[in-house]
Amino acid sequence: MPDPAPGGASAGEQQVGSVVLVGGGPGDPDLLTVGGLRALREADVVLYDHLAPLACLAECRPDAVLIDVAKFPRGHQTGQDRINELLIEHARGGANVVRFKGGDPFVFGRGSEEWLACAEVGIPVRVIPGVSSSIAGPELAGIPVTHRGLTQQFTVVTGHVGPDHPATTVDWDALARFGGTIVILMGVKALPGISAGLIARGMDPHTPAAVVANAGLPGQAVIRGTLASLPEESTAAGVQPPALTIIGAVTALDLPLPD
Ligand code: SAH
Repeated sequence: MPDPAPGGASAGEQQVGSVVLVGGGPGDPDLLTVGGLRALREADVVLYDHLAPLACLAECRPDAVLIDVAKFPRGHQTGQDRINELLIEHARGGANVVRFKGGDPFVFGRGSEEWLACAEVGIPVRVIPGVSSSIAGPELAGIPVTHRGLTQQFTVVTGHVGPDHPATTVDWDALARFGGTIVILMGVKALPGISAGLIARGMDPHTPAAVVANAGLPGQAVIRGTLASLPEESTAAGVQPPALTIIGAVTALDLPLPD
């Protein structure tokens, strides 16, 4: 019997690699964690999204294979099944694979789906959490999600469809009564319906609200208004994804940002 190679494979047999799900933060390379940077530097293969801080890819080894799996809403797409297949194929070939994502992998990031797909076929997976845009986006615009004496709860929801869309699974009635800070991701297109739907469910139209686009990126923009006025102001400002909406008293705080 030949000596088993490290990891349990016999000599000559391909040793299985691994997958590391890395959260890259909202876009500014400075917001990648030390652990995330180390994983990128050690990777043989990196599968990355367009919301990951792409400047950090310069830290990869020159011989690392970099694969763009950006999923544009209506353009070229790499489907989730194909992404899972690629992770598995490369890890099975013995590679240390990094799945590099924007924000945190487990906040609307499908990281847990990828983990399950790999685990099902015996590929070891670990996750390196990232700075989520749901907290850092407001923060970079001078808006805290909590503030003592003002708001002691916050929630993060998807706004890819609004309250009156049959596909929504968000409890908009509960949100209208919530009283804390509401952070809405993926809600640029549905913002008019979200605003109208929350007001129709009893929320005060004067509730302070803001949109933060490109948080932490060179084109960062902050639009402030009220629940009622924000959709129009956001359209007038030409807001495009990535952008998030914050609704609640904290958006009126307006912490002074450095120039
Ligand atoms: N996993 C990510 C979120 C993925 S969903 C995270 O934790 O941040 C994608 C949505 O996140 C976008 O539609 C947008 O609403 C928000 N988002 C991501 N990066 C952003 C940025 N730099 N500025 C504003 N919103 C951002």
